[in-house]
Amino acid sequence: MKSEDGFLLPSSRLEKVQSWGMNREALAYVYRPSTVDGIREALNDAHRAGRTVGIRGGGCSYGDASINSENVVLDITRMNRILRWDPQEGIIEIEPGVTLQRLWQYVIGDGWWPPVVSGTMFVTMGGAVGMNYHGKNNYKMGPIGEHVLEFDLLLADGTIVTCSREQRPDVFYAAIGGFGMLGCFTRLVMKMKRVYSGLLEVEAFATSTFTEIARVFEQRMAVDDYLVGWIDCLATSNGRGRGLVHAARYLKPGDDSSANQTLQIAYQDLPETLFGLVPKSIMWRFLKPFSNDTGMRLINWARYFMGSTVGNNKTTRQSHAAFAFLLDYVPNWKRVYLPGGLVQYQSFVPAEHAAACFDQQMEICSKYKVFPWLGVFKRHRTDNFLMTHAVDGYSLALDFPVRKRSADRLKQAICEMNRVVLESGGRFYFAKDSMLTPDDANAYLGQDVIARFRQIKRELDPDGLWQTDLSRRLFGNWNSDTAPNRALQEAR
Ligand SMILES: Cc1cc2nc3c(=O)[nH]c(=O)nc-3n(C[C@H](O)[C@H](O)[C@H](O)COP(=O)(O)OP(=O)(O)OC[C@H]3O[C@@H](n4cnc5c(N)ncnc54)[C@H](O)[C@@H]3O)c2cc1C
Repeated sequence: MKSEDGFLLPSSRLEKVQSWGMNREALAYVYRPSTVDGIREALNDAHRAGRTVGIRGGGCSYGDASINSENVVLDITRMNRILRWDPQEGIIEIEPGVTLQRLWQYVIGDGWWPPVVSGTMFVTMGGAVGMNYHGKNNYKMGPIGEHVLEFDLLLADGTIVTCSREQRPDVFYAAIGGFGMLGCFTRLVMKMKRVYSGLLEVEAFATSTFTEIARVFEQRMAVDDYLVGWIDCLATSNGRGRGLVHAARYLKPGDDSSANQTLQIAYQDLPETLFGLVPKSIMWRFLKPFSNDTGMRLINWARYFMGSTVGNNKTTRQSHAAFAFLLDYVPNWKRVYLPGGLVQYQSFVPAEHAAACFDQQMEICSKYKVFPWLGVFKRHRTDNFLMTHAVDGYSLALDFPVRKRSADRLKQAICEMNRVVLESGGRFYFAKDSMLTPDDANAYLGQDVIARFRQIKRELDPDGLWQTDLSRRLFGNWNSDTAPNRALQEAR
């Protein structure tokens, strides 16, 4: 894109923008509009200066999905009004910068809960829909997009198109999960899930291999509302795939005699201190001495040991927030991964190949001596969104520390794991990605899907205004039909 009349963006807007995994950062011209007209002004500036625009919500994507180096970043967090709430029907209309935290806190007192939540409540709902995020109930409730009734999408030319399953369904199914490439959501209408208590019934038990955990999930999918597995990825080959399962069910009307109380925000809120003593804001510092493979091996072992002995086969009642947002218990926990930050690698594999594929991934990690400090296992189902990441199968999300001395080995390991995932018919997820290549994206999305997405993009955004570092890495600048030059990718 060319600048008109030599217009330059104000240098006062230049800010450092970082990936959530803290392993990428760039300077960008950051605009923080609080109205639709404010967005239009930012787009106008970008047009005049010949810059592209990347949309950013809470910045919780692990890689480069909401970074737009040396271009405009449209930070949408100030567009955070709740526009309408119908507590009878559970239908809410919001601006895209409303966080998941604000959303659940707004609706729970009336006996509703967001039908799909991610592992952190600090995402915005615009970002959630932009990636079509999934929860620990993906096999039952699908991704968040299945609960969106309608949205307004602000296009590159400043006009707004309203989309639903009936009105512009092509754009509806492409913009949800369209990683901010078709326009900016400025209004979302969503349906919440009725709940009769602020508590869930949670069962915890241990499993010893990927095959076993997958078998247990298959057996329990029909009865449990949420299923999530934690995997000890630092176990030796004898214990490979061992982990803990947490299965949760909603309570039925009448099951909780204190429902009025448990549905209050105060009851849900995560405690400010651990054991009533340690402020949670400094807890990550206690983990810091363990921030190496040996320390993490010990922590993983202790977690598995406790979970498979004293905690095994225990059933408890837990608040929705405590169950859903476990990771938010320890604010800034990601700092344990400094100085290099972390990469999350999440692959989605059809059920019949999942256990073998994840076993192979663990073997590859051992071969390259790069060990994930956290592994999370989930069950998924397919959906109808154009750029879907889901499969009828399982995902394994692995958190790898990034270190200078092991960076090359990590890259090689991920490359090899990608191959195994693709051979198994698997998929990937842009919210977690930092290392896919255009060939990988092509292989799992398929040329037809990419061509269809490009066609819709050309219609809505003929100049390729909406871009991010991730979109350029995987799809070039959108103005041509070809993926970015491979040699250029490799040189980066
Ligand atoms: C600790 C942690 C746990 C997580 N757990 C899960 C999980 O369980 N399941 C899961 O699926 N994901 C999970 N995620 C990933 C997270 O849900 C997604 O990355 C989500 O998109 C982040 O929302 P955000 O508001 O931070 O968006 P950003 O990361 O800022 O942006 C995400 C994408 O949406 C686009 N976008 C943002 N706002 C808009 C808008 N208004 N209009 C159009 N496009 C927009 C951006 O351009 C970008 O492509 C987790 C992330 C973290 C850090």
